[in-house]
Amino acid sequence: MKELDRYTRQTIFPGIGPEGQRRLGEGFAVVVGCGALGTVVSSALVRAGVGRVRVIDRDFIEYHNLQRQLLFTESDIEGGLPKAVAAERHLREANSAVQVEGVVADFSRTNAEKLVEGADVILDGLDNFETRFLINDVALKLRIPWVYGGAIGSTGMTATFLPDERPCFRCMVNSPPAGGTMTCDTAGVVNAVPWIVGSLQATEALKILIGTAPLSRDLVVLDVWQRSFESLSLADLVGADCPACNGTYEFLEGKPRTRVTSLCGQNAVQIWNAAAVGMPLDQIKDRLSPLGPVEGNEYMVRFPVGEQELVIFYDGRAIVRGTRDESVAKALYAKYVGM
Ligand SMILES: [Zn+2]
Repeated sequence: MKELDRYTRQTIFPGIGPEGQRRLGEGFAVVVGCGALGTVVSSALVRAGVGRVRVIDRDFIEYHNLQRQLLFTESDIEGGLPKAVAAERHLREANSAVQVEGVVADFSRTNAEKLVEGADVILDGLDNFETRFLINDVALKLRIPWVYGGAIGSTGMTATFLPDERPCFRCMVNSPPAGGTMTCDTAGVVNAVPWIVGSLQATEALKILIGTAPLSRDLVVLDVWQRSFESLSLADLVGADCPACNGTYEFLEGKPRTRVTSLCGQNAVQIWNAAAVGMPLDQIKDRLSPLGPVEGNEYMVRFPVGEQELVIFYDGRAIVRGTRDESVAKALYAKYVGM
């Protein structure tokens, strides 16, 4: 009775109904990345009664996350919890009937297929393009629908990609932007943006799991500061010769575009990223200078982040000093250089 009562506000809504609720209970959703988007998405899915929810994240919680990452608290930080572990705890408190699984891992070409295998839908809660292309590849290969979401500054975007319908994400975006990208960590973000985008993503996932509602075939672009909300038809964004649509999964199966190596005998990790070769260091310096003391010349930029230091070179390499942990280094690179 308690369980039936829990979902009455969904079962009396005609779009879901008792049959839709039953299907949600049989659904399996994988949320990749548990920052602002991931916390909103996973809360919505778990509270709505999706049967099984897996949340994957490689990072720890920091104080500047609390401004927007709805699931986390100050005591999670004091306890030194990884995001995936704290998320699992809080989500189970919200709904103990859901099978919630927090996975502390860097979603990469080596584990991507295993982590999403059997999923009915994948949700993007990431902060970087390269891993989104990886989701796109693995989703097409395993024929799983996925819901893209992005948030930066006052703007956000979301779209749903289906294995049987073009365009895919790669058709739409083509390739990771060269020379790094702005991220929430360098450009900031208004907290409502990921909350709105994450809510739209979760709603699409519910529709996919229920299977009867027509899915949105558009790219939504919104700006909370301008108070604008646009919807662009996905049909206009089909790429002419998209490798992913033609079954070539370069981010999953091609040559690695990022190499991460622990530097022997040093407390440091080196990262090489194909998209960063020849990147304009002065732009990176300008982007980072509001965040702290940046030093540099035409060959490299040095930027301290807490106990670590990022040294970014013009040839696409970066060295993260102060850690031997490759996923910590990759996370810092994705946040401050962008990939
Ligand atoms: Zn495509």
